[in-house]
Amino acid sequence: MAKTFTAEDFGARIERAGRMAEAAGLSGVVVTPGADLLYLTGYVPVAITERLTMLVVPSDREAAMIVPVLERPDAESAPGSSNLTLSDWADGNDPYEAAAELLDPEGRYAISDAAWAMHLLGLQRVLPDSHYVSTSDALPMLRAVKDADELELLAAAGEAADAAFYDIVGVRFSGRKESEVAADLAEALKAHGHSTVEFTLVGSGPNGANPHHEFGERVLREGDMVVLDFGGIKDGYTSDTTRTVHVGEPTEEERKVHEIVEQAQQAGFEAVRPGVACQEVDRASRKLIVDAGYGERFVHRTGHGIGLTAHEPPYMVEGEEHVLEPGMCFSIEPGIYLPNEFGVRIEDIVAVTDDGGRRLNTTPRELTIVA
Ligand code: ZN
Ligand code: ZN
Ligand code: ZN
Repeated sequence: MAKTFTAEDFGARIERAGRMAEAAGLSGVVVTPGADLLYLTGYVPVAITERLTMLVVPSDREAAMIVPVLERPDAESAPGSSNLTLSDWADGNDPYEAAAELLDPEGRYAISDAAWAMHLLGLQRVLPDSHYVSTSDALPMLRAVKDADELELLAAAGEAADAAFYDIVGVRFSGRKESEVAADLAEALKAHGHSTVEFTLVGSGPNGANPHHEFGERVLREGDMVVLDFGGIKDGYTSDTTRTVHVGEPTEEERKVHEIVEQAQQAGFEAVRPGVACQEVDRASRKLIVDAGYGERFVHRTGHGIGLTAHEPPYMVEGEEHVLEPGMCFSIEPGIYLPNEFGVRIEDIVAVTDDGGRRLNTTPRELTIVA
């Protein structure tokens, strides 16, 4: 039975959000439906529509949420609703006039990255002296440090993705299309408890040299390197792992490139400990690849945070000076991409512990041979 979060859990998160906003010199946080609202209240509206739902977490008073009157019963039954003053608005009225009651007319707020432009424009119309900045800019670490229950859910999602990998290396690759292997992967993710499949990338041969190639109709054959990057949502938390496999015996060059990426992934992992800047994880991985002469073929950052969403702060990227704290959770996924030839990427989710890192993916990182 997966952990369910209580009103107390959400209350503590709301309090922390208020403190973070204050520390950032803001009047509060404006939250619209999506991961931030789920994180702070447990509330997921039946659909994200043009009807305004908005939570305001002020730095100096109680949090309040306004919802369409027809969705009020749903909002009231959300686990975190007891921490909020709830109000509503009815069709035919201006929702922004109603929402203005929750805001300081001259306030400066962080607003959810995913807030619809129409809602932000509506607020700016009724409160022309209020100001807004993006939550990911102002409060990037709002959801970054996971508590023990969240870590458990992330570990369980990782384990389920690993189980899907063990399934997939047993299927036939050669003679089948990328799309067919991708469908097998999706099925395996679901079979191991994912409620949603977020992505199943199958990049075979030259397609693997495009880091975001999803999958296509290319038929796999003996000799192909195949990048498999997949994940989904299990009990609310996301999995994301990559392994690169080879159909039949690899060449010397393929082995060598894979080995470099494996060592780069390990170097990134070994750089993880509290107090280290995120960019140091990127630098540690990247150094291995640069020193091996493939620096220009590693065309993306080393990693991204993960939690309720697949990509969130903290980012393991040059210039990110935020320091790692115990409970932060992110990917380490260096790669080498050789245009028209093949690609290699190896990705584990890693949680920061008191004295280092803990891998939430544990399938073999060595090059696996498939049939
Ligand atoms: Zn090959
Ligand atoms: Zn991935
Ligand atoms: Zn990833």
